[in-house]
Amino acid sequence: MKLIIAEKRNVATAIATAIDGAQETKDGYVKKGDYYITWASGHLLSLKEPEDYDPKFQKWNIPDLPFNFPNWELKPINAGSKKQLNIIKDLLKECSGVIHACDPDDEGQLIGDEILLYHDYKKPVERMLINDNNTEYIRKLFTKLEDNRKYESLGISAAARRIADAIIGINLSRFYSCKSSKTLHVGRVKAPTLGLVVNRDYAIENHIKQLHYILRIIANNNDKDNNITFTFQKNANTPVNEDKLIIDLDYIEKVQAEIADIKDYKVNVTSKILTKNPPLVFNIDKLQAYCNNKFSYTAQEVLEITQVLQATHQIITYNRSDSQYLNEEHFQEAPQLIEIIKENLNLSLDNIDTNRKSKVFDSSKVTAHHGIIPTHTRFDLSKLTEKERNVYQVIAEFYLVQFMPPEKLKETTGIFKVKDYDFKTTDRTVQDLGYKKFLNSINEEKEEEEKSNISKFEDRLYDFVNFATPIDTRETKPPKPYTEATLISDMTSIAKYIKNPEIKEILLRKDKDKEGAKGSIGTPATRASTVEELINDGYLERKGKQIRATEKGKNFYNNVLPDEIKTADLTALWWVIQEDIIAGTKTITDLTDSVFKSVIQAMETNKDIKIRHKDDVICPKCNDGFLKNIKTSKYNFWACSEEKCGSTFNDNKGKPDFTEKRPAEKSEIPCPKDGGILYKIKGKYGDFWKCKTCQQNYKDSNGKPDLSPKKEMKKSAQKCDCGEFLTEIPTKKDPNKIMLCCEKCNSKYFEQADESIKKWVIKK
Ligand SMILES: [Zn+2]
Ligand SMILES: [Zn+2]
Ligand SMILES: [Zn+2]
Repeated sequence: MKLIIAEKRNVATAIATAIDGAQETKDGYVKKGDYYITWASGHLLSLKEPEDYDPKFQKWNIPDLPFNFPNWELKPINAGSKKQLNIIKDLLKECSGVIHACDPDDEGQLIGDEILLYHDYKKPVERMLINDNNTEYIRKLFTKLEDNRKYESLGISAAARRIADAIIGINLSRFYSCKSSKTLHVGRVKAPTLGLVVNRDYAIENHIKQLHYILRIIANNNDKDNNITFTFQKNANTPVNEDKLIIDLDYIEKVQAEIADIKDYKVNVTSKILTKNPPLVFNIDKLQAYCNNKFSYTAQEVLEITQVLQATHQIITYNRSDSQYLNEEHFQEAPQLIEIIKENLNLSLDNIDTNRKSKVFDSSKVTAHHGIIPTHTRFDLSKLTEKERNVYQVIAEFYLVQFMPPEKLKETTGIFKVKDYDFKTTDRTVQDLGYKKFLNSINEEKEEEEKSNISKFEDRLYDFVNFATPIDTRETKPPKPYTEATLISDMTSIAKYIKNPEIKEILLRKDKDKEGAKGSIGTPATRASTVEELINDGYLERKGKQIRATEKGKNFYNNVLPDEIKTADLTALWWVIQEDIIAGTKTITDLTDSVFKSVIQAMETNKDIKIRHKDDVICPKCNDGFLKNIKTSKYNFWACSEEKCGSTFNDNKGKPDFTEKRPAEKSEIPCPKDGGILYKIKGKYGDFWKCKTCQQNYKDSNGKPDLSPKKEMKKSAQKCDCGEFLTEIPTKKDPNKIMLCCEKCNSKYFEQADESIKKWVIKK
């Protein structure tokens, strides 16, 4: 028997379908022919957290930092993964070999390899590079199995990135949070994503309105009722600002004066047909953006909806795909699939041609996955929620349009020269709606263009008469706030904002084979959750459809984060090392050591950093630190963040109580045990002194702590019930509170305020 490990259950099911023989479905695997087929569910294992190594690390403390475990150990992600790992463990014992059939990318390689490593599996492993659940396609893969060792370095590079991310995340999140009144999470992808929004909001807030000018000529072909507006075309000598707008009024007035008296123009009209092919099928980024625009669903929602459609209802293919292309095999099966979709959606379509092969069918552009399309499952859509139905429908529509004719537009241009200046007018008219008859809701970035009657003219030269030469004055507009759609789109092309040419070049090189990504950060599977985490961390907030930076987010990005983390530089620089790991010239520690060094550097540079937030309660004693609420089962009080100050305040309904007039008195003499500061405490039974660090209590003697070694136990004049004299013992909590013990019968008593004694009865 051989064991096949797929990355997801539905892939395992598809593989089983492609194998001949009787099928037995068991708990956590399928038996078919000579194979056991089992599955992971993405990663079954994750890195251990510091508290898994030692529970004391549960509390975030700066002295514990930095963490870098020499051997970052793995643990099952949850109870479900633990169970599945045990099933795989038993299957491994029975098998003579393994076929690793997780996704053919670095993360997929790691998902399979880490399971085998975790179980210390030593027998031969073959690799099946599977990116499609199509049965015919999978059958062919069984003849193309390779030695898994060929791909191991790919998984190692993903493992290196995971550890490097943990070194950044664990250390810097703890470091900055300890310095702040709020929890501050740090991450390689999160930081530059936050930066996009912070910088965009800054540009909006600081936008200074400027006037810019457009010169027009309104003219007609001897028909005053049908004026046509021509627009001045900038040339190499036109002064423009960085947004290519003309802000120089003198210049534009000079041109206006030069042309005002010229009355007749020879206008050359030309036209051409533009064909617009249907859009490709969706990958997850594009689907999230489309649904955000069309239905206002958040990216996270779309991810969850597609998860249900894929895993529960199995009516769409893999939902986290980064590819918008389909394998050859999908073209062969299109006629059946189209019929199923038409049934599901109750559609009748007349413009479908299954011989039409759109550019979506291109196996060379399929990555670890193919584009998101419907599966061959017949389904009663009324069983779906409205949101699920909407998302299924747009996925299906974008598949169907692949077999529909393109949209045809006629573009007519009228152009003429006056002196050295060109004036132009353009108009587009629809010749054939093509696929848009079906898909009319598609959102296109509408360029601002004036409608013109020029399309009524045939292609030739015309005589036009000048009617007027107005200057159109406009205001520059601030950039638009991010929406989830535009933010995720910018995450896939963050390189365009990067000034450092080297980093920019690396990011673009990283994505050179990725359709739809141009210098990106994150992955399609994680971008939505990155945005969601930034919102949960309080760095970003939703305002309707907009995503804006909060005060906390702006402060953290602008004043706290070190430069190398706030930009996309890390993603770029890591990628270079990862490529070397894949090539076998570098190892995991080459990456993790350099990351660890920069973490130590960042903590050293920022060791005195003061992170203050607008809503911090500033310590009234030193006017510098903020007050942190410290809550344990025993205490609830507020302490100043500045060690030098060390002030504490009682808690009053969740707020520090400043009413105490006299500050707690400090002793000039330190604690004899550890040199800690001694504070005077007003106890129920009188004053005593408490060490701030070791909590040791000392009796008060004439306003000063009594540091003399503990008095020997004193015999009391009081008697026990049994007749024996009692021994006085000061309690630990309050040295003024006396407990009395009977050495004979072990009874305990407490002294009351009136010096009478009360027996201590343990309540049952
Ligand atoms: Zn203070
Ligand atoms: Zn002490
Ligand atoms: Zn007694």
